[in-house]
Amino acid sequence: MAVPNPVREALTSGRFSYMVELVAGAKSTEEHLVEIAAGFMQIPGVLAGSVTSFAGGSAGLDPVHVGAAMQASGLTSNIHLTCVGRDRLNIRNALQELQRLGIENVFAITGDFPKGSKEPADVLYDLDSVQLVEFIREVREQTGFPFYISVAVSPFKYTEPDCAYQYLKLEKKIAAGADYAITQLGYDSRKMRELRRYMDERGLRTPVFGNVYVLPLGAAKRFHKGEPPGCFASKELVEQIQAEVDASTDKGMAARLERAAKMVAIQRGLGFAGSYIGGDHHADRIRWIIERSEVLAPKWEELAAELEYAPKGGFYFFESPKSEPQKQTFWNHVADIVEPANTPRALRSVITGTLRLIDKSPTAAAALESLELAFKQPVFGCQACGNCVLGLMEYVCPMTCPKNLRNGPCGGTHDGQCEVIPERKCIWVEVYNRAKAADRVDDLKTYIPQRDRSLKGTSSYINYFLDRDSRPEHPQPLIQIDVATPPKPAAKAEAQPEEKLVKSN
Ligand code: SF4
Repeated sequence: MAVPNPVREALTSGRFSYMVELVAGAKSTEEHLVEIAAGFMQIPGVLAGSVTSFAGGSAGLDPVHVGAAMQASGLTSNIHLTCVGRDRLNIRNALQELQRLGIENVFAITGDFPKGSKEPADVLYDLDSVQLVEFIREVREQTGFPFYISVAVSPFKYTEPDCAYQYLKLEKKIAAGADYAITQLGYDSRKMRELRRYMDERGLRTPVFGNVYVLPLGAAKRFHKGEPPGCFASKELVEQIQAEVDASTDKGMAARLERAAKMVAIQRGLGFAGSYIGGDHHADRIRWIIERSEVLAPKWEELAAELEYAPKGGFYFFESPKSEPQKQTFWNHVADIVEPANTPRALRSVITGTLRLIDKSPTAAAALESLELAFKQPVFGCQACGNCVLGLMEYVCPMTCPKNLRNGPCGGTHDGQCEVIPERKCIWVEVYNRAKAADRVDDLKTYIPQRDRSLKGTSSYINYFLDRDSRPEHPQPLIQIDVATPPKPAAKAEAQPEEKLVKSN
């Protein structure tokens, strides 16, 4: 008989609940984390422990092992599954392992760029977070194993492109199969309210957990600098915490627990599904925050007005004036005309026939590829991925994103700057600005499938016209799974269900 999943049950019933984050850092041990989890398990309302992977870009313990041990000891786990350094086979294997262990809850995220990796090319991002959600959903459908998928969203973005794209990407994640969302860190109730309104106005009923971090001074200072990527603390918040530390004998502990309890009360008042509490592994403090939040709950509106820590002049989706759309450039008009998807019907069969002939000769095909690269490399930064989606990304090449994302920015952007190369503008700012200029912002919600990596170094024109590439109207299947072999219970598992890659990606 299937074991009930408390996370699914609570979110289905609409009961406000809690999830507590366990940082599976390299300095910790599995035994210690299981001990911590045992403490969390005793707290009423706590549904699960959420086990991190590559938090802040640092390698740590294997979250699957930690989650399995935690779940065996009685606390349901939610495993962070990132795209960092993994290909699809690796991700599929991780999902099979979760299935074998009976772990349903997966937090599907892009993942922070590994610390110490200088060259983006050194780190593989085969999928992005939207493709990862789609992949898990496909596996769920093929195997019948009820993966319950959570995704990240950050309302705490204070420029228009960053903010608008976070919400667009959330819509894509929901469309791809996400069951619920968890926000990034931030201490601005106006932004939390903004997220609720954005979802309500679009009829998005997907439950959302609000992030609550028990914030000490050191972490606040790092968040203020954008470390780890995506976390945000304003200057005023850092000053406030400094003042609390200076004025107390407990280094500001009581004040930060009180602030965390206020955040929980606000999230409950705003209609979040629950709070995702991090930054503290002490069960007694987590219990205190939850109990205190219940006392504070009736005055959540008043508290919301108090907790609005934001940068000066920061962008708010419904309140700030939107920037004037840029003018479309001449080159964008030209690109629109030569975009393969815009080829007139009458010309299609001629071009397809010609490319079919070229394709028969390896020399001619290679020559065409060289010609294509000679034009697209200097103009778009083309890296000859062979699956061209320039037309879907306002002629910004996705391979110029250090994480090779195709469906929108990761959560690591900071004021429009790239997480991996902070001195560089995030490519998605340009995508958004150009889409706005062309009145195509809604088109950015189109799901772009993962690239077929076996096509690298081949002509994208040939691949497009001969229907070999991977694009929205022609997505390629990822991995075929032989579902004839059901997953075996952990204790008896010997062989994994057979699987094969459809493409040698
Ligand atoms: S999407 Fe691929 S083919 Fe198109 S410009 Fe970028 S690297 Fe080149």
